[in-house]
Amino acid sequence: MSVFGAYGIENAAQMIYLGLHALQHRGQEGAGVAVFDDNGRCRNHRGLGLAGEVFAQGKVLDIPGRIGIGSTQYANIAKGGLDNVQPLCFHHKTGDIAIAGEGNLINAEQLTEFLEDKGCFFHTSTDSEILANLIKKEGVEERIFRIKNALNMMDGGFSFVILTRNRIYAIRDKYGIKPLALGKLGDGWVVSSETCAFQLLGAEFIRDVEPGEIVTIDDHGIRSNHYSDFKKHKVCSMEYIYIARPDSDIDGCNVHNFRKEVGRRLADECPADADIVVGVPDSGLSAAMGYAERSGIPFETGLIKNRYIARTFIQPSQTMREKSVQMKLSAVQSVVAGKRLVLVDDSIVRGTTCLKIVKLLRAAGASEVHVRIASPMMKHPCFYGVDTSTKEELLCSDRNLEEACRMIEADSLGYASCANCVASTGGCSELCLACFNGEYPTSLYENE
Ligand code: AMP
Ligand code: SF4
Repeated sequence: MSVFGAYGIENAAQMIYLGLHALQHRGQEGAGVAVFDDNGRCRNHRGLGLAGEVFAQGKVLDIPGRIGIGSTQYANIAKGGLDNVQPLCFHHKTGDIAIAGEGNLINAEQLTEFLEDKGCFFHTSTDSEILANLIKKEGVEERIFRIKNALNMMDGGFSFVILTRNRIYAIRDKYGIKPLALGKLGDGWVVSSETCAFQLLGAEFIRDVEPGEIVTIDDHGIRSNHYSDFKKHKVCSMEYIYIARPDSDIDGCNVHNFRKEVGRRLADECPADADIVVGVPDSGLSAAMGYAERSGIPFETGLIKNRYIARTFIQPSQTMREKSVQMKLSAVQSVVAGKRLVLVDDSIVRGTTCLKIVKLLRAAGASEVHVRIASPMMKHPCFYGVDTSTKEELLCSDRNLEEACRMIEADSLGYASCANCVASTGGCSELCLACFNGEYPTSLYENE
């Protein structure tokens, strides 16, 4: 999932479309935009599909207005469907607001019950609707205080952009789990889940939104508020490992540089006797380059990706996922035949992808396949909105290294350590590594 906001920018809807296009890798199930037009009316358009498909409908790009927000949506069985595509627009006597969010509240169930007891109805299963209801629930204080109070009731990993007629509020959870960055475009401002969107727009990166910070953007410029004194800085390590684009920087660390450094260190941690290093496109390539550089084993293009297939994991059912792995990758026979390979991928979740790739490479004639994973063994589920699946489905939740190696039919298997990942940020960020080490930065409520 991704969020994006544009303030004080001519044809904001068009800029938001470009922003979402750059954030498309964070979710392909749906996309939406909400813009306040020059008459102070909130105009909202949401649809299922890629941003390009959604924005082609209904002349969305023609909506006039200098302030708006947008979002791309990730397929998630519990929270899927058009109803849950954001931004959501809420009408109220004090003025319309629109909200888009990413991540997951771990106390959503408790908050929903609390709000239902107060007479609220829910149309969606989004955290944005919970936030909207908490803000509007009661009280006559200024909006920023109501937002702060609402956020203090919410626990989890999230980022939100809230749009009012004359303001955008950009919010990052107090643990800093989700990334959110602030940029300047001409006289206006942009906020984005990832900095790669700024490059496309020609916006200048200003800074990351801090954990627990609410950045208010309006005609006074930007103002900073913090909703909690409790703060940690535990960015989701999977952002660096898999989710984010290599040209994005998160909390001062470039994603490609992180992956390459993990790959270098992985070569020291898990050496292999082999002829070539092959990276799994796209998210294994940076780490494979690092592995090759450090080990001295030549980097080769042994796998080719069909560019017209969406990312495999973001397919809602296992049957579709299995088919899309086959459709996505093919081996370059003349490169791999008769060779001992180090195969570098970013992560193993269920193990489906890796097993298929190993088989593919053997069918193309590879004599040995030594799998090296540029992240630690994934043993625990994520409760912060990254769909790494249930504990039962994770390949390594109850398997040791030898068993996992057998399951993916590799000649050997090695994983990067948590210490490797921490060191590879170069000290820029602390990391959430909960899906690897079980140390969740938040309490877990009924999820435990
Ligand atoms: P699997 O077949 O379940 O082991 O899928 C592992 C592959 O999915 C990895 O090679 C990653 O490229 C990708 N992946 C890992 N984590 C995620 C995630 N949270 N969302 C989408 N894709 C992921
Ligand atoms: Fe990211 Fe894993 Fe932490 Fe979830 S548990 S936020 S996927 S590092």
